[in-house]
Amino acid sequence: TPWLDPAGQKPLVQIKGLTKSFGAFTAIDNIDLDIYQGELFCLLGGSGCGKSTLLRMLAGFETPNGGEILIDGVDMAHVPAYERPTNMMFQSYALFPHMTVEKNIAFGLQQDGVGKSEIKDRVHDILTLVELQDYKKRKPQQLSGGQRQRVALARALVKQPKLLLLDEPLAALDKKLRKQTQFELANIQEQVGVTFIVVTHDQEEAMTLSTRMAVMDAGRFKQIGTPTEIYEFPDSRFVADFIGSANIFEGRVVEDSADHILVTTEACDVFIDHGQSVKIDSRIWVGLRPEKIRIEKSEAAASGPNQISGIVDDVGYLGETSIYKVKLESGQIVDVAAPNQMRPSSNSDRITWDDKVLLSWEPSNAMLLSS
Ligand code: ATP
Repeated sequence: TPWLDPAGQKPLVQIKGLTKSFGAFTAIDNIDLDIYQGELFCLLGGSGCGKSTLLRMLAGFETPNGGEILIDGVDMAHVPAYERPTNMMFQSYALFPHMTVEKNIAFGLQQDGVGKSEIKDRVHDILTLVELQDYKKRKPQQLSGGQRQRVALARALVKQPKLLLLDEPLAALDKKLRKQTQFELANIQEQVGVTFIVVTHDQEEAMTLSTRMAVMDAGRFKQIGTPTEIYEFPDSRFVADFIGSANIFEGRVVEDSADHILVTTEACDVFIDHGQSVKIDSRIWVGLRPEKIRIEKSEAAASGPNQISGIVDDVGYLGETSIYKVKLESGQIVDVAAPNQMRPSSNSDRITWDDKVLLSWEPSNAMLLSS
């Protein structure tokens, strides 16, 4: 996988100091990003954070106010959209309703003056890839939503772009189909090896699809990394809470030794063994994922770091897991998610409302958030 070891490899896409404003409003605020050949890179963020604007600048539909975009080493500043080695797949698919699947896919190649027999071969290959051979004579309205999505993908890929830009490619599908299609899309991308940049506002989708992703907010990147890096080591409260959920405690660094950092918070002291440089006495935040906290019934009060005692305020039974809302002495509520693997042998083992509980976690599971 080239993106994991890009040593010596030139990025396919280089974005440097890119800025875009609409009047006084800055939609993209001086961003830098390198994307490598073969990546499936997701731009993830809430509504209005600038994802589509960035994608449209890559496609050449929008002109930057400052900075550079290089694709394959070539500055795109004066290259119009139709001459870029990119192709865009729109959320609406924009298929021609009066043309068959086959003709929809062939259309772009005909426009480019590709020869008849080559068109035939390329359309055949791409229809096989997206598993639509049996549907090639149908028109778009005779297809399901998922099939239409695959026609749009085939039409974008048949032109063999170096870079495929996808704006919310699965937004038109219902939730179940969307989940299934995420895996299909990632599979197809892996088979063709074309670099994909996907815009999505759905964090689960970004996690499933991406080789790497950028979390965006207000025209900037909050964090860039693999899905695991972003989930396990978010570096800010924003990212910790945007990807999954996190219990957050404000604290102060009191000790920084070779193997751990000690943070004091209002709720308890926390050891963190994630190697980062921090300043003694600096203000930071500790994040704890609900599923990384142990919960047990206990009358005993917490007696050391990485432990808190509390009282169960609410229980949500979700089948696979239960969510416990645990109220601390400070009044703060901590969410704990625990799997319902086995039925408790007796009702007295079951954790329920008003039980006194002890929460604890491993130092490796506490996340240090610097902002
Ligand atoms: P969404 O998921 O809602 O599409 P997004 O992250 O894709 O959001 P963009 O479409 O990139 O957001 O828009 C970023 C910001 O720039 C928004 O506040 C939007 O209102 C603004 N914006 C986008 N295009 C224009 C335009 N042509 N003129 C003025 N403002 C614009």
